[in-house]
Amino acid sequence: MSEAEKLMNYINGAWCESSASQFLEVQNPATAEVLARVPLSPPEEVAQAAQAAAKAQAEWRRVPATQRVQYLFKLKDLMEENFEDLSRTITMENGKVLDDARGEMRRAIENVEVACGIPVLMMGDFSEDVSRGVDEYMIRQPVGVVASICPFNFPGMIPFWYLPYAVACGNAIIIKPSERTPVTMQKVFRLFEKVGFPAGIVNLVNGGPETVNAILDHPAISAVTFVGSTTVARHIYARASANGKRVQAQGGAKNPLIILPDADVEMTTNIVTDSVFGNAGQRCLAASTIVTIGDADRSFHPALAEAASSRVVGYGLEKGVQMGPVITPQSKARINGLIEQGLKEGAKLLVDGRDAAIRGYEKGNFLRPTILADVPAGGTIATTEIFGPVMGITHVGTVDEAIQLVNSGKYGNMACIFTSSGAAARKFRYEAQAGNIGINIGVAAPMAFFPFSGWKESFFGTLHGQSSHAVEFFTQTKVVVERWLKEWSRQF
Ligand code: NAD
Repeated sequence: MSEAEKLMNYINGAWCESSASQFLEVQNPATAEVLARVPLSPPEEVAQAAQAAAKAQAEWRRVPATQRVQYLFKLKDLMEENFEDLSRTITMENGKVLDDARGEMRRAIENVEVACGIPVLMMGDFSEDVSRGVDEYMIRQPVGVVASICPFNFPGMIPFWYLPYAVACGNAIIIKPSERTPVTMQKVFRLFEKVGFPAGIVNLVNGGPETVNAILDHPAISAVTFVGSTTVARHIYARASANGKRVQAQGGAKNPLIILPDADVEMTTNIVTDSVFGNAGQRCLAASTIVTIGDADRSFHPALAEAASSRVVGYGLEKGVQMGPVITPQSKARINGLIEQGLKEGAKLLVDGRDAAIRGYEKGNFLRPTILADVPAGGTIATTEIFGPVMGITHVGTVDEAIQLVNSGKYGNMACIFTSSGAAARKFRYEAQAGNIGINIGVAAPMAFFPFSGWKESFFGTLHGQSSHAVEFFTQTKVVVERWLKEWSRQF
């Protein structure tokens, strides 16, 4: 084990070394440099965080919302000041190119900005004279202690789909980052420290599945959010719900993108390849299945092949690089295996990105963009979330067939259409079974003031992250029916 920095937990307003018996190395996926060592924190450390959070939350909920958001205003300033450092940290631990990392931090900040509106967003409702002299109103109260379990692919943004709303609504929170990309949160928590949140309101517990299960089981934690793969999302949803917790679990994806013959070739090709190959395909909103319709194959197949082949692959901190590595050597091997399997099942190799060697970064987990055409419906490439830079192309005759194909998938995170026909776009928007729709957009990522709306096996729960959904998720409604003195209400 290397001497790289041991990451700490942040519990009850203090940095604490974990008593974990196991630490994992966090490697830069482009260089294989060991950036840090992350503890697999034992359940007792989750318990410490939960107890501290519960104690702190009892006082925090009494702080007026207008004052709670002052901490967020400060946090926004600090995030702006540290924007470049946080973005570079994301690139170093995740591999995405610096501009993508900056985009990620921008969305994180946007969520802080939206949550600054909590005094209005968490307002209740009031009805006067629901019966003679009787008034009824609904107020929102925080749910208590909440926890967010996060994936590797957006280490800076995904905790912010939740944390700003949770704390502004009067809750205390525990963040459990991915053990593969935990460094960004380590830096973000240094900013929380500077912001001066009261001890116990924001807590960081690093770890893996055992740490997660301790969160799911701890009685002081009332609500859990999860973002990650569908297999784990199911587990989180089932176990946390069985323990009586409020839970939302965002899962995996296999996003289809359909192209009509009337779509603009240049613009569409650029947007589509950015969607498929951006972040090396490791985005839950990456397009992965491209469906060309009618004559679209003639112009688009060569254009997509050309754009994929000319994409610049390398270390994301270097200028001009358009695509970085995938997260681990295991992930690279898995993606190569899926491509092999697709070829065995009859797909045609249009662009081969396997075994990419990048000069100067021979130890990195690099692949180049791969395109498989004539992907058989129902086969491995059409149905498996690859989470790598692989485009599968299927060709159909009509929009109806394309929509049928889109809706036959088990996931429902995103579906996109490229066309200049308003009627086709409307039909698609209306019928496609996915919660995020792009119309001439390749990554239909909702702004912070809209919910991140996965459907089907991409989501387990009711309320999503971001926006008014997060406010509802992190508050419980209380309805009060009220009658006062007879003479003041005139009569009953
Ligand atoms: P993952 O499911 O492997 O891990 C996510 C989290 O779950 C991590 O914090 C990890 O420690 C924990 N975990 C892993 N295995 C566990 C287990 N057996 N029991 C309890 N906890 C466990 O996901 P990942 O590889 O980090 O992220 C990629 C996945 O996330 C992809 O499937 C992607 O589509 C999905 N994702 C979805 C969205 C969305 O909004 N729908 C957004 C981003 C990523």
